[in-house]
Amino acid sequence: MQQRDVIIIGGGPAGRVIVHALHTQNSGLSVTLIKDEEINVNRCAIPYGIPQDKPIEKFQIPNQLVTNFGAELIVDQAVKIDTQRKQVHTKNEKYGYNHLVLATGSRPLVPPIPGVELAGVTPVRSLKDLDALRRFAAKGQKTVIVGGGYIGVEVAVVLRQMGLEVVVVEMLPQILMATTEPEFITDIEKTLTDKGVHFLGNQKVAEFQNRNGDGVGVGLAGGDILTADFAVLSVGVVPNIELAAEAGIQTSALGVVTDPYMRTSAEGVYAAGDCAEKKSYITRKPTRGEFGTNAVFMSKVVAQNILGHRKTFPGVINANATMVYDWSLGSAGLTEKMALDAGLDVVTGHSEVLDKYPMMGGVAPIRTKLVFERDTQRLIGGSVMRKGHSTAQNIDFISFAIQMQTTLEDLLNYQYATHPELAAKPSDNTYVFAAQDARGKL
Ligand SMILES: Cc1cc2nc3c(=O)[nH]c(=O)nc-3n(C[C@H](O)[C@H](O)[C@H](O)COP(=O)(O)OP(=O)(O)OC[C@H]3O[C@@H](n4cnc5c(N)ncnc54)[C@H](O)[C@@H]3O)c2cc1C
Repeated sequence: MQQRDVIIIGGGPAGRVIVHALHTQNSGLSVTLIKDEEINVNRCAIPYGIPQDKPIEKFQIPNQLVTNFGAELIVDQAVKIDTQRKQVHTKNEKYGYNHLVLATGSRPLVPPIPGVELAGVTPVRSLKDLDALRRFAAKGQKTVIVGGGYIGVEVAVVLRQMGLEVVVVEMLPQILMATTEPEFITDIEKTLTDKGVHFLGNQKVAEFQNRNGDGVGVGLAGGDILTADFAVLSVGVVPNIELAAEAGIQTSALGVVTDPYMRTSAEGVYAAGDCAEKKSYITRKPTRGEFGTNAVFMSKVVAQNILGHRKTFPGVINANATMVYDWSLGSAGLTEKMALDAGLDVVTGHSEVLDKYPMMGGVAPIRTKLVFERDTQRLIGGSVMRKGHSTAQNIDFISFAIQMQTTLEDLLNYQYATHPELAAKPSDNTYVFAAQDARGKL
């Protein structure tokens, strides 16, 4: 048996960030990262890797991001953790640890629909999936995408841009409902429709049919059958918690349970990233939050605690952004619905402000919705949708404002920059106007 100071299971962003943090801080610890994917893909970039104009290698994460940062890399599968003896068993070896990090991520949710295992049905997660998508898209003319979350929509747009006929089937009435304010969704759906992406809401897939070498049939619960060359399954993810659960480590449906130091219920064992249960920064209650950024934030805290710095993680704000044709949109914190579902009394503010001075070319509106807790007037959420690719900066601002406990009054007094080509005119600001709108409703 080999003995290590730190063993990390999982080679996604959560695992890699810990390797990097321990290395840059000259920890001097012996670190081994065990991962079962020979080569990891950059998951966020998968939709944009489907066209074959770029080589698939560009979308791979080099293993040197582990080995160049002082860690040993083992490509193997961890099959058992013995928390008493502080050992990890892989298929081929046994390792002793002082600190163990569970960074096992999540996997696509595969509902028990008959035919879901057919070769013509692919999830969107791994390098293998990207390879399948590239092959299908290069040959196919028609696809059905099951699931209208941001991943399904990103894939739909790319496939449509490649000239395929695309149908998105969603169980809920609208797409993007997990992260987006309904006021914005309508415009996104209209854009998709205008571009020829067909959307079927309130529809459940009941089966996938093999069409004997002629693609797949996607059977809807109502009886209709959509024919396609291939189908894409993108209906969510489930955290990989089985290894932890079998070792007696506390888990929930949302992941491996941790304390604010990211420690699990087993001594010396941490969890971070998609496999770890997240708590909302705002409500402090368990929440979803499978984002690459959350994996990074949690892992930095794990690394600090391994180094003995006693750092806590304050919870996830779930800042996110996506793009749909020439729109970009995103949110941070709670949407109005999430806040109401959490039992919070809220006031919201809307604004629509031009992104440049009105006389400049290519002027377009920035639309913002802010959510404030009514009694404290604390900002607890915000969404932005605008033309062009700049929304992530708006979302980052809102996320930081939430993190800094910004109030409605703070936003009314917010000091910002202007320039005819780069920002709204001096009197106008998208956050200030949304805050003014909210104040008017108090
Ligand atoms: C198509 C797509 C687009 C996305 N876009 C965005 C985006 O734009 N922005 C964003 O913030 N997030 C995005 N995400 C989410 C982001 O990719 C994940 O949140 C992130 O990958 C989580 O990192 P992780 O390290 O926790 O888990 P993972 O990336 O899942 O890595 C975990 C690794 O552990 C391995 N593993 C599991 N069990 C074992 C075991 N027993 N032994 C050995 N190895 C094991 C897995 O095989 C995997 O390689 C996207 C995801 C997808 C699929």
